[in-house]
Amino acid sequence: MLTTITVLPDHIANQIAAGEVIQRPASAVKELLENAVDAEASEIHLILNDAGKALVQVIDNGKGMSAEDARLCFERHATSKIKQIDDLFQIRTMGFRGEALASIAAVAQVELKTRTPDSEVGVQLEVANSRIESEVPVATPLGTSIAMKNLFFNVPARRNFLKSNAAEMRHILEEFTRVALAFPDIRFNLTANHQQLYQLESGSLKQRIVQLLGNPYQSKLVTVQEQTDYLNIRGFVGKPETAKKTRGDQYFFVNNRYIKSGYLHHAVMSAFQELIAGDQFPTYVLFIDLDPAQIDVNVHPTKQEIKFEDEKIVYAFVQAAIRHALAQFSITPTLDFDLDRGIQSLTSIQHPFTEEKKQATASSSLYSGFTQKNQAHFIDRASTGQAKPWAGLPMREVSTNEERQAALLHTITDLEEITFTQLLNTYILYPLKDGYRLIHQQRAHERVRFEQLMQADAQKPIASQRSMFPATIELSPADAALFEELIPELAELGYLIEPFGKHTYVVQGTPADLESGEEQQTIDQVLEQYKHFAQTVQLSKKEALIRVLARQQAVRGGHRLTEREMRELVGDLLRCQKGNVNPDGHPTYLEFRADQLNKLFGFQ
Ligand code: ADP
Ligand code: MG
Repeated sequence: MLTTITVLPDHIANQIAAGEVIQRPASAVKELLENAVDAEASEIHLILNDAGKALVQVIDNGKGMSAEDARLCFERHATSKIKQIDDLFQIRTMGFRGEALASIAAVAQVELKTRTPDSEVGVQLEVANSRIESEVPVATPLGTSIAMKNLFFNVPARRNFLKSNAAEMRHILEEFTRVALAFPDIRFNLTANHQQLYQLESGSLKQRIVQLLGNPYQSKLVTVQEQTDYLNIRGFVGKPETAKKTRGDQYFFVNNRYIKSGYLHHAVMSAFQELIAGDQFPTYVLFIDLDPAQIDVNVHPTKQEIKFEDEKIVYAFVQAAIRHALAQFSITPTLDFDLDRGIQSLTSIQHPFTEEKKQATASSSLYSGFTQKNQAHFIDRASTGQAKPWAGLPMREVSTNEERQAALLHTITDLEEITFTQLLNTYILYPLKDGYRLIHQQRAHERVRFEQLMQADAQKPIASQRSMFPATIELSPADAALFEELIPELAELGYLIEPFGKHTYVVQGTPADLESGEEQQTIDQVLEQYKHFAQTVQLSKKEALIRVLARQQAVRGGHRLTEREMRELVGDLLRCQKGNVNPDGHPTYLEFRADQLNKLFGFQ
């Protein structure tokens, strides 16, 4: 009988398996650096030649290996880090599968030198094609040196697949940065083609970030630090002005392991919403620490993905912690009692792990306060509502869009029966079931206008009304140049403007829902504030313009409102996505509850 099945020789099987772990020089850099960290080194040198294609060498002063361990470490599934299955759920070290060295030995020539503290001489091994070629005693410093030479020397197809040195170097620096950020206590040294690129002293995380990401960050980092019984978060976010158009400086670590998480990235982005332009990315280096049992370790470790037992809590927590941090540094002012309540409510959902207890807490007022719309820490499903991979997750605690819509409409119909009172021609006061709400009319209207304008675009511009007597405006040459750029956006926002000679323009139309008049003054103010915004906050052209217009068009404090106008404004505010703050992040209203009032009066 003809056999078609053959068993692959070991070295070929090893090469195939290795492909998963070692794809490029940077994968070896990651594995070797992590092994050095796991060996408790306080100093690690990384030496590269030819972007790691010719040489990746890692020298550490860690605990070293005995001669026997040195031979064993190249075997597949040789690891000193797990002994029994239970250990899998308590992983604290970086590696644990015992695959890295076996993979490297399958696809490169390896030279290992190592010595433990209790032995005078060390051992030197040479390995190629998964086979130990030589073993000799050697005088070597305490610790381990592993040199990986000529990556893919025996797999030409893969060698040809490697990218340019510049590209491979970028991958390496990325891995180096991730490990160096996670361990600021460890000294790191990086030499490439005999040139020293980095010499990182041990120090604080902040110092390490500045060393790696650049001096400008020295005064541009905001501390993030929150602790609960369930998880802790610490680290830094860059101030909004450091946000960049390109992704790059975003780092999440879970139990000190670098991870990629679109879901958590979104949590950070949402905390930065309206502080940076829509097409920018904030810098962050964040560490989340939690019980390893709360993480699914079955996810492949080299994929840098992670699964949390309760992803929603982690999301909410990250978002809240960053908002809190930004608020504390008064980058985004918020209602402080809301923030604290948000954080506290998180603590309160830390302990329970039974389904029953979870449900009880989920329905408690603290938790619902935390998830309610218009709270500083509301988890806004609506604004995350586009088809995101996690959109299908069960969100028991947070009402569905339709439910919330219904609740909102209910409140809005209720508004018909409510009496509104204007105080000081500036505040709108109206009763709630167990208290009352005080709305700042100007800030509320700024928010309403902001969201209305944000929805406008070329397809659906703000309706414009043709002026019967078009106003002519005259600008300085510099302002005219700036203004010229804004004309298309202004058209979407209801202002129809045509050039009329040198530095002169005619306003043919203004937003239909606004009274016209004083166009020159309006445009002057818009330009002035626009310049200010463009300088201080990095926003897109359109968003900066919308912020200015929202402010410009909002009803002022001191302006008398009719009952109908008040009702309409409050209704519009309740329909807003972020009705609790104006576009600058200042509160639009304050709420006074019966229990707070009782306290103020000295009742318990
Ligand atoms: P893992 O890290 O998943 O255990 P590796 O293949 O990376 O698997 O390493 C295998 C074993 O070799 C480790 O468990 C460790 O015992 C030993 N080892 C590797 N690198 C070092 C090092 N730099 N110092 C001391 N021991 C090391
Ligand atoms: Mg390892």
